[in-house]
Amino acid sequence: MATFRTIPAAKHIALVAHDNRKDELLEWAIANKGALTMHRLYATGTTGKILEAHLGQPIQKLLSGPLGGDQQLGAMIAERKIDVMIFFWDPLSAQPHDPDIKALLRLCVVWNIPLACDSATADFLFTSPLMSGEYASRQTDFTEYLSRKI
Ligand code: PGA
Repeated sequence: MATFRTIPAAKHIALVAHDNRKDELLEWAIANKGALTMHRLYATGTTGKILEAHLGQPIQKLLSGPLGGDQQLGAMIAERKIDVMIFFWDPLSAQPHDPDIKALLRLCVVWNIPLACDSATADFLFTSPLMSGEYASRQTDFTEYLSRKI
């Protein structure tokens, strides 16, 4: 039987951008500055520093992504502390922390977190009425997995 997790109206939103896409995320965040103030923001270190300087809204900054920030966000998702992920990853450059990136993207799907990897998807997400209301996020039932015979 499916269970649901209520994502509240005021959401905990994580923002991450790789270096080649930080400008794009900043531009998107400035365009959505008003909507972002309704929510609590988290970011990897460098992304957070840049966004905070332009948004005038406090952002909880974690470690820089390659130094463990992606893994910190992944842990927060597993602990249901993040509700929405905006992750502008770089599709054209190899990243030293590729395993961490994959892990973060994977956990978004495991926990059914809305995930935008480009500004078009982020626009669709932020114009959804679900952004300003509660949402029942369907959670996979892991009981069978957890009680598996080893
Ligand atoms: P940064 O990390 O915001 O510290 O640059 C981004 C990332 O690579 O995950």
